[in-house]
Amino acid sequence: MDITNSKVPVLRARPEHLYTYTCSHAHDAIGGSGLIRPLKDLLVTNVLDNQDEATRLIASYGWFTSLNNISRYSAGMIGLNKISLKCNRWEYRYRVASRFAGKLVPWTVERLTWPEHIAQALETDGPDLEPSSWYMSRGPVQVFYDPIPAPAPAKKTGWAALT
Ligand SMILES: [Zn+2]
Repeated sequence: MDITNSKVPVLRARPEHLYTYTCSHAHDAIGGSGLIRPLKDLLVTNVLDNQDEATRLIASYGWFTSLNNISRYSAGMIGLNKISLKCNRWEYRYRVASRFAGKLVPWTVERLTWPEHIAQALETDGPDLEPSSWYMSRGPVQVFYDPIPAPAPAKKTGWAALT
């Protein structure tokens, strides 16, 4: 058996914390804590009926990641740098409440329920994507606002220290 070509997902240790990232508009709506729901549960009309299968699948989940330090420069790892998203979807970090974290399913497992060509297309939809960091939920997930600590200001050295 060629194990390198196996469809069996690689089981990893569950990360200590899981996160999701939002834009300022979602942050205004969620505040300090709230529930992240699949996009399809937020839509009042059945606009998804006219969308393709990939879009409907993506909208069926809330999406999370084990990556704890997403920025403008790394947003591509979780697909949040797409121009079509318009907003800066990586600006505000929320941490999944611990009692919900164990209910989230790794993408590497959930993808087995998807049509393979759609799963592959999603995983290859950008050069930086890191699907092994993705987690998902079909139900609401409680999160807490958990801002990324600002980096310490760089120490001035040399001539710059005199300014
Ligand atoms: Zn927004």
